[in-house]
Amino acid sequence: MSPHDNQPADALRPEAIEAAVDAALAAIAAADSVAALKQARLAHAGDKSPLALANRAIGAIPPADRKEAGRLLGAARGRVQQALAERAEVIEAAELARVLVDEAVDVTLPVELAPQGAIHPVTGMIDLICDEFVAMGWEVAEGPELEAEWLNFDALNIGPDHPSRGETDTLFVDPPSNHLVMRTHTSPVQARTLLSSDLPVYVICPGRTYRADEYDATHLPVFHQVEGLAVDKGLSLAHLRGTLDHFASAMFGDGIRTRMRPHYFPFTEPSAEVDLQCFVCRGESVGNPDRPCRTCKSEGWIEWGGCGVVNPRVLRACGVDTDVYSGFAFGMGIERTLMFRNNLSDMRDLVEGDVRFSRTLKGVAR
Ligand SMILES: [Zn+2]
Repeated sequence: MSPHDNQPADALRPEAIEAAVDAALAAIAAADSVAALKQARLAHAGDKSPLALANRAIGAIPPADRKEAGRLLGAARGRVQQALAERAEVIEAAELARVLVDEAVDVTLPVELAPQGAIHPVTGMIDLICDEFVAMGWEVAEGPELEAEWLNFDALNIGPDHPSRGETDTLFVDPPSNHLVMRTHTSPVQARTLLSSDLPVYVICPGRTYRADEYDATHLPVFHQVEGLAVDKGLSLAHLRGTLDHFASAMFGDGIRTRMRPHYFPFTEPSAEVDLQCFVCRGESVGNPDRPCRTCKSEGWIEWGGCGVVNPRVLRACGVDTDVYSGFAFGMGIERTLMFRNNLSDMRDLVEGDVRFSRTLKGVAR
């Protein structure tokens, strides 16, 4: 018998089949991925696997031996197929579990959105102030920034010779014969309101104002003011005082009070400058070198704005019967208020337009 003749019989010997099955089962058990199992299937159950070759050899052995060899081989191939199926199930389950973990989407994670802008701090501050007064029943009034010279000055008892009417302070708009100015304060809105509304009037007027001013840490040529005007029967300085204290508490903290220092404004009589009790030290730094306060420079008070009882001349210029009605008014710089409130040192930060700055301002950032 030549070696060639011997081959088919060798492949079909029970030990050879058992060895092929053992090798197949070992390879299948070792496969730890879909790809590895595919390799094991090719090597041990594919067309060129030992068991497939043995199957082909059946035809070459004596017919009497074929049945037994076929039974043995069939059982062997069945065991391998079953092992492959079981292993495939295990691997697929493991892969599915891995995918579920690896590719899981955590819906609670913050979504990365495109960068967005922020409400400008000045706008935020205006909203805060208006909300406070609207809650008391006041109305918000606005007027044009390009204003009639008469409304910006004459109606407010600011005579033709008043220094603020000079070109060093006021931006006049060509041609001069039109008598138009970029409004230097929001007070003309008060005059407009009185001219157009029924009494009583309670208005808060926020807006942009213009002066021929420097651009530095504490001045801007374009800035914002907020003015309040109340005209009703029997209004007095006491009502003004109460309103300012409420305004100060709302902006700077409960119990923060105001004080008035006599001053002169053409459109109010009497007039006063409004100081704000220091909301950082609440006055405790005064005469107390151990506890200095940078916000008020240990003075206990911060200059905030102006106020007064509306000059009857202003009321009369706007057609109000001063025998029946009286009023009070006050005005503050919004940038200045914001600087105190949020401890800012340079007003220019408010106009640079850096959204990161806007987002840091507590209370007004949105
Ligand atoms: Zn202080």
